[in-house]
Amino acid sequence: MYSDIYKLIKEYKKIVLARHVGVDPDAMASVMALKDSILLTFPKKKVYAVGSGSNRFTYFGKLDKVDNLKKALLIVLDTPDIRRIDGVNLSDFSKIVKIDHHPFVEKYANIEYIDDTASSASELVLELINETPLLMDKNIAGKIYLGIVSDTNRFMFSKTGRTFRAVSKLIDEYNLEIDKLYEPLYLRPINEVKLEGYIGLNLNVTEHGVAYIKLTKDILDEYKVDAASPGNMINNFNFIANVLVWAFFTEDIKNNNIRVSVRSRGPVINTALTKYNGGGHKYASGARIKNLDMAIDVINDLDNLCEEYKKESESIENK
Ligand code: AMP
Repeated sequence: MYSDIYKLIKEYKKIVLARHVGVDPDAMASVMALKDSILLTFPKKKVYAVGSGSNRFTYFGKLDKVDNLKKALLIVLDTPDIRRIDGVNLSDFSKIVKIDHHPFVEKYANIEYIDDTASSASELVLELINETPLLMDKNIAGKIYLGIVSDTNRFMFSKTGRTFRAVSKLIDEYNLEIDKLYEPLYLRPINEVKLEGYIGLNLNVTEHGVAYIKLTKDILDEYKVDAASPGNMINNFNFIANVLVWAFFTEDIKNNNIRVSVRSRGPVINTALTKYNGGGHKYASGARIKNLDMAIDVINDLDNLCEEYKKESESIENK
C-alpha cells in the first residue's frame, strides 16, 4: 500500500495535503512532515498544506492557499470522514489518498491506508517515509516526533513496543534534541494553568464515574482563554480514582455550538458520541452539541456506558 501511495506522489506535480477541522498537533505534524519530505525528495513539485490554522501550531510551518486543483493529488491525513476534512472539496481532485489511524468511518479516497492500531497519523507518515524512497531529515524527524508524542500523551497510550521502537530509532538517527522540541508543544500561558485549576475545583462526578464540567463563554472570558483551550488539557485529568470517563463541554461562540471533548480509561466512547455529531478514537473522542442543556443527555449516556463497563468487569473478575 505504501508503495502505491509513493507511486502517486511521484506521478503528480501538484499535491495538496489536508487534515481534519479543529487542528491538533498530530494532524498538523503529519501534514507538515509529509509536505517537507515530498519537497526534500522532489524539490520541483508544488506541495500545499491546507486548512484553517491555529496560532498555537505555527512552529510546524506555514499553511498554504491553493487554487486550480484539477490536476492535483489530494492526500488527507488523520481524518476518517468527509465532513471533518478541513479546507478542500473532494470533487476538485483527480485522485485522493487517505492516510489515517482512526477507526474506519467511510470510504472517500481512491487509496485508503487505515491502521487504527497506529499511535498517530505521524507514525504512519514515518512508516511511509521509511518504506519508500521518500527522504527524511532532522526537521522532518522532529515534527514526526512531536506528532507521536502529542497523540500518545507522551507514550502513555502506547501499549506495545511498536511506537517506542520507531521513536527510539528516530531519536538516535537524527540526533533529536527532545527537550528543545517539547518547549513549543507544551509551553502554555499562565491563564490556561489557572483554568485547569478551575476545572479541577469544579469537576462534577456522576454515580458511575463520569467526571464533567461545563465551561461557559463567561468562564472562558474570565480566564482569557479561547474555546480550544480546555481540549488541550483534558489529558491531564487521567487517573482520577473512581473516574472512568471525563468530559468537557465548552461553549464555542464562534461556531455557535458546544465543543464536547471526552476521554476514557475503560469504556469505549466513540460509538456513543456518533449520536451527537461526534466520533473519534475508542478512548479519545469529541462531539458537537447545540447548547449546554443537551450536555445532560451526553452525560447520561456516558454514565450508562460506565455502569455497563463496571458490571462486565465485575462479572469477568468473578468467573
Ligand atoms: P478532541 O477531544 O477534540 O481532542 O478530540 C479527540 C478525538 O475525537 C480526535 O481524534 C478528533 O478527531 C475526534 N473528534 C473530535 N470532535 C469530533 C467530532 N465532532 N466528530 C468526530 N470526531 C471528533
